[in-house]
Amino acid sequence: MSRVLIVGAGLTGSLCACLLRRELKNKVKIVVWDKARGSGGRMSTSRSPDGSSHSADLGAQYITATPAYSQSHHSFYAELQASGLLQPLLAPIEGLKQREGSVDYVTPRGTASIVKHFLSESADLCFEHHVTGLYRRGASWEVHRKAGGSEEFDAVVLTMPVPQILQLQGDLTELLSVSQRQQLDGVQYSSRFALALFFSPDVQLQLPWAARYVSDSDCIRYVAHDARKRNADAAGCGPSLVVHTGVPFGLQHLERDKDEVQPIILQELYRLLPALPQPISIKCQKWRYSQVLTAVPGCPGHMTVLAEPLLVCGGDAFSHSNFDGCVESALSVLDVLKGSL
Ligand SMILES: Cc1cc2nc3c(=O)[nH]c(=O)nc-3n(C[C@H](O)[C@H](O)[C@H](O)COP(=O)(O)OP(=O)(O)OC[C@H]3O[C@@H](n4cnc5c(N)ncnc54)[C@H](O)[C@@H]3O)c2cc1C
Repeated sequence: MSRVLIVGAGLTGSLCACLLRRELKNKVKIVVWDKARGSGGRMSTSRSPDGSSHSADLGAQYITATPAYSQSHHSFYAELQASGLLQPLLAPIEGLKQREGSVDYVTPRGTASIVKHFLSESADLCFEHHVTGLYRRGASWEVHRKAGGSEEFDAVVLTMPVPQILQLQGDLTELLSVSQRQQLDGVQYSSRFALALFFSPDVQLQLPWAARYVSDSDCIRYVAHDARKRNADAAGCGPSLVVHTGVPFGLQHLERDKDEVQPIILQELYRLLPALPQPISIKCQKWRYSQVLTAVPGCPGHMTVLAEPLLVCGGDAFSHSNFDGCVESALSVLDVLKGSL
């Protein structure tokens, strides 16, 4: 049985693992490693730091299906809707650009629920497994971890943001052709900060919208009443508010500690919403790699670094920076794996 390591428990890695298991169940042993303490990646649903059952989506907010992807990815949309994980967006969003024929969906249980759905079918899942290096050892890859130790795999799939792929030690960068290296060096991401404010259960947020795109602030670009936006019932745990900064603000403060930046965002939030009550806890996230601004040319879905032993890269940088981009990439990585194993 071939041992396949998928690095990254975001949407691309999780879907890769799920599809691989569905298609090659008895032929491969699939292992998923992620450096984080939970799954989701940039589709993360964060818990309140106070340990309550509050949650908020700090990364992706909606899933927008274009007419073409509604058709070609119909089975994924149908599966997630049938599981109650995806619902049409119903709540009023101020400033949301509607694209003709596109449908916006939300995730009542948070965006990470989609990732967890696909992961629930895959095999070994290990968190706090930070990959630091890849070394070719005959017909296998020896994969090193930050915590020490290494394991060997017959094939490795990397789904983290491209700059994190290029930081890996070992043989990877030497195996890249000049043109592959140029393509990866050309990938660019936006950067932003996100805040989640968690309120006490007796608080009612008096806001006329479920989410709003802000145009009159140098700091804040988007604010959402999280549960209301995702058609969810927050009864019992209180509401939460999600704030995304604009990209110029994100870039300006990128090298600062998030604890220094949090008060600046809060001050601007209370300027925009002076009647907002005080939260019981706050979580701040720095998205150094937020959405992909420049993808790998031609959006090929994947990049094969070495055919044997297989080393392949995937993720939204190889397609588009959204749900359908991750599905495209996962399908394309799956084809490579099926051809190789
Ligand atoms: C603020 C924000 C808003 C967004 N809004 C939307 C939206 O509204 N709609 C939409 O469709 N998309 C949106 N996106 C984009 C969407 O979230 C991404 O396209 C998608 O989540 C990318 O998934 P991925 O699996 O390719 O990568 P990731 O989610 O980044 O997964 C990569 C995983 O690899 C792990 N990792 C990294 N390095 C290592 C290592 N060395 N060892 C082990 N593990 C490692 C990370 O912890 C991570 O879990 C948004 C993103 C952000 C940040």
